[in-house]
Amino acid sequence: MSVTPAAREGNNAASAALFRRACEVIPGGVNSPVRAFRAVGGEPFFVDRAAGSRIWDVDGNEYIDYVLSWGPMILGHAHPAVIQAITEAAGRGTSYGAPTEAEVQLAEAVREFFPSMERIRLVNSGTEATMSAVRLARGFTGREMMLKFEGHYHGHGDSFLVKAGSGVATLGLPNSPGVPADLSKLTLTAPFNDLEAVETAFRAHPGKIACVILEPVVGNAGFLPPDEGFLHGLRRITEEHGTLLIFDEVMTGFRVAPGGAQELFGIRPDLTTLGKVIGGGLPVGAYGGRADVMDHVAPVGPVYQAGTLSGNPLAMAAGLAQLKILREENPYPELQRKTKRLVEGLLANGAEMGVPMCGGSYGSMWGVFLAAGPVRTFEDAKGSDVDTFRRFFHAALQRGVFFAPSAFEAGFLSTAHTDQDVEETISRARDALRFALA
Ligand SMILES: *Cc1c(COP(=O)(O)O)cnc(C)c1O
Repeated sequence: MSVTPAAREGNNAASAALFRRACEVIPGGVNSPVRAFRAVGGEPFFVDRAAGSRIWDVDGNEYIDYVLSWGPMILGHAHPAVIQAITEAAGRGTSYGAPTEAEVQLAEAVREFFPSMERIRLVNSGTEATMSAVRLARGFTGREMMLKFEGHYHGHGDSFLVKAGSGVATLGLPNSPGVPADLSKLTLTAPFNDLEAVETAFRAHPGKIACVILEPVVGNAGFLPPDEGFLHGLRRITEEHGTLLIFDEVMTGFRVAPGGAQELFGIRPDLTTLGKVIGGGLPVGAYGGRADVMDHVAPVGPVYQAGTLSGNPLAMAAGLAQLKILREENPYPELQRKTKRLVEGLLANGAEMGVPMCGGSYGSMWGVFLAAGPVRTFEDAKGSDVDTFRRFFHAALQRGVFFAPSAFEAGFLSTAHTDQDVEETISRARDALRFALA
């Protein structure tokens, strides 16, 4: 890959030194693959601090941040109310291994946003939530197969690493070594937005499919909205077959609408998984849904799932503080307006320069492809102009804008992003695109 970050040249010595040290002790220098910038070339910057819409690297470069920790920071970085809640909680001890009121409060708050989640179990990450939800679906139905969609990412659980999105797609890995073939065989896949393929899978495996899991609005293959009627079609088919429908709302939850995609599209899934925003920037995940299904989880039922740090008091405090603000201040209309303006501006840049581009947003989750579109599936997304994207990504970074370092990731916006931030971003992105095309 021949991309060299020019503007940061000479101003990235501290990051470069840290990256060399990191690579000696951490595989690839990072603790999550997408952070390594492999898909766009070059080396990652190391972060010093962040506040509001801004993030600063260890060389003192400032960026307007649209990655937002890959989704959680919907109120922007270091929101004073969240920081205060964490600080107060820390003063009372950092982990007990016994239940607290904050866990009850967070579960109650989640249920207010997501009425379909009649019972909720709190865990430490989105991966844990999806793994546990699928185990529960298998335990509840007594069936072993699951169906997922190409390019959708549900964390790094063994069963999900079949035609997965996010870093798996970014790195071009079809499947992961280390996942037993006997397990992968139980994971069926279909293209997103293809009900016919779903029907075919059900016909081929009658009475065998425990659950269908999906990102109802996809963020991990780039931003892909569901076709009209697709989600309702899935609800109908799963009901017909006694299969549980799992909405993985780890990214879309509290994002595309307060109550996630299920509120936006008026669908009641059997189970829902959450992560990212729910923790206010600390490690929290959750799964929940129908009471009769959730009552199969231990200690009520036989499906085992546990966690030493689950319901951690600091994480509960951060999540509660963030959800309280979302509920009381309802920033969603404003977030949506600014996000729409951003996407419109980025697309206008493309139109001005004759670059085929398409994109969209729901709430404050958005995405743009360098492709004429429409982009409805992961196959379509892979047809976008990834080479130009790489140059654009670095040119934007050099101009102080941090977009996700992959053509196959959604972007976000926070309440801390001002109209001025958005206009500034559109203007810098115009320069970056011109540079990328030159
Ligand atoms: C991020 C993500 C996950 C995994 O969550 P982690 O907290 O990274 O384990 C699962 N599903 C979706 C849709 C995600 O976006």
